[in-house]
Amino acid sequence: MNQLSWDTAPSLVDGALSVELTPREANLRYWLETVPQGTLAGRPDGHDPALTVPDFMREPGPLRDALLTEYAFRSVAEEKATRALSYLVPIAPDTDTMEFYATQVLDEARHAMVFRNHLLALGVPATNLWQAVEAFAGADIHAVLDPLEEFGLKIMRDDADFLGGVVLMTIIIEGALAPAAELSERKWRPLDPAAAEIDRGAGIDEIRHLTVGAAIAKEYLAGHPEDKERALELVARGMHMWTVLPVHELVLRREVLFQRGLEQQAAVVGDYEIWPGRRLVDTTPEERTATADEWSREMKAARLAYIGLEEAL
Ligand code: FE
Ligand code: FE
Repeated sequence: MNQLSWDTAPSLVDGALSVELTPREANLRYWLETVPQGTLAGRPDGHDPALTVPDFMREPGPLRDALLTEYAFRSVAEEKATRALSYLVPIAPDTDTMEFYATQVLDEARHAMVFRNHLLALGVPATNLWQAVEAFAGADIHAVLDPLEEFGLKIMRDDADFLGGVVLMTIIIEGALAPAAELSERKWRPLDPAAAEIDRGAGIDEIRHLTVGAAIAKEYLAGHPEDKERALELVARGMHMWTVLPVHELVLRREVLFQRGLEQQAAVVGDYEIWPGRRLVDTTPEERTATADEWSREMKAARLAYIGLEEAL
């Protein structure tokens, strides 16, 4: 049975910690059944078409700004991931793995599309889309995404380093961003259910990317133990990048905007719990970011140990 269907898939963080999936299973045929004909069936925009954006999300104010800032940034992140990951397709060591990366390229292109299109649903005019992306997220894109992209392209395109690319994506890039994505799904759920579904769908894809990517790295390292030192060194360089890039400031700024909007819409949110026993309206920006950071640490430790790179910690 497919463990990653829309109704039964675990949350992103739980799934990334508990699901085991290899490229032998998660090849092109699996993807066709579980993604286009599975989670995405009837959701061409990433969410149930019956879900519309509430009027208060389309009105100027901190809540709309928070979602525009977030989705503009994430749309560009996904587009950069799509372009960079495509370099892993020709250097994948076998057919199943090649098929998996071909599907991941399409997944990431889809994520870029659904985040971008949701900006239109929030009332950004189509003719003005790229100016809006630049206005809302340009500074963050240049400060955080451009250096990460440069780092990734050096490994995947210039060095054609397959293991390096896989480790970079599963540990440094997607592994580090996944907790923020789960936080997003949880906090937007009562305010913009269409956005929460977009995140849910992307999160289900992400469980596959993280677990299959880790299985690929583990298998590759088992066959090439001489590459371990290089992989450890890459993880160390990648983790160092996260300490110097202004990611924490970026996430906190987003949460502060969200908080102002949350206070205005407290009646809509009501007793909704962001996690069991904790009402969203009672949380603070610091608490939400600290929780995501904690998930990040937990996931990174588990994934490094699974791959066989626990010395990196
Ligand atoms: Fe993605
Ligand atoms: Fe992904």
